[in-house]
Amino acid sequence: MLDLHPFRQRTFKQRVSLEGVGLHSGANVRLALCPARADSGIVFERVDLQPPVEIPALAESVVDTTLNTSLGKGAARVGTVEHLMAALAGCGIDNARIEVDGPEVPILDGSSARFVQLIREAGVREQGKARRYLHVKRPVGVQEDDKFARLVPARSFACRYTIDFKHPLITDQRFELELSEKSFHREIARARTFGFKRDIERLHAAGLARGGSLENAVVVDEFNILNPEGLRFPDEFVRHKILDAIGDLALLGMPVIGRLEAVKSGHALNHQLVRRALSEPGACEVVWLHEEQELSALLESVPGFAGLEVA
Ligand SMILES: [Zn+2]
Repeated sequence: MLDLHPFRQRTFKQRVSLEGVGLHSGANVRLALCPARADSGIVFERVDLQPPVEIPALAESVVDTTLNTSLGKGAARVGTVEHLMAALAGCGIDNARIEVDGPEVPILDGSSARFVQLIREAGVREQGKARRYLHVKRPVGVQEDDKFARLVPARSFACRYTIDFKHPLITDQRFELELSEKSFHREIARARTFGFKRDIERLHAAGLARGGSLENAVVVDEFNILNPEGLRFPDEFVRHKILDAIGDLALLGMPVIGRLEAVKSGHALNHQLVRRALSEPGACEVVWLHEEQELSALLESVPGFAGLEVA
């Protein structure tokens, strides 16, 4: 994929599919990635409904951010989209039709790894048209108590994330990276979702997380990791929070030129940030880039550019 033009839109070469259990319903769902024309964006399609319903993967389609990020249109829903959205963003996919025959995306192993593998099976095709980006011109953010998420100007898309769960295994974890296909695959894609044993018991009692198990999440009790295989990275927790944030920010509908700085953020706050970035006058602008020189010119147009950190 590395020989592709950095500023042109991408879709898949061919349709591919997989099947897996939904985290909340516990039901089996078939998901297919299909090529789509330039400028069409990422669109989910509930193919099991009559007639089928298309739901664009955009901020305006978000209907729930309590446990996962869910999209909807009318009564139709597609839940737990964030790990797939992160994989699509991490692989630089702009246009795709995602068929699902149930109300949520399969949870698989709780990370983006299997989706990245599926995207590779599909193959990536460059499309003739220039890609648009959301260029962050000045800091824009949202805050709630001691949590915040903001976007600040930077040379490319980067993330700096801190979590602190007041738990011996998950205190003050920080991670930072500049996002590229390589860094996403190597550092982020395999990080699994995680949960606390007591919360999972509560969810099960409420009839939620029916598909949840040690096969698709890291589960911790007061002091220990319950998964016999242990962690994939010592700081897998914060890496997964970055994965979630990349998936949530993908609902901007275009890649970001800027850095996400987040402390204790989650789906709800990430989504508020997406809305704020799109609506706050003067904070961000939509740009079309064709060549490297345009990116340099764009960055030099930002006041105080010389003082910007290289992420
Ligand atoms: Zn997640």
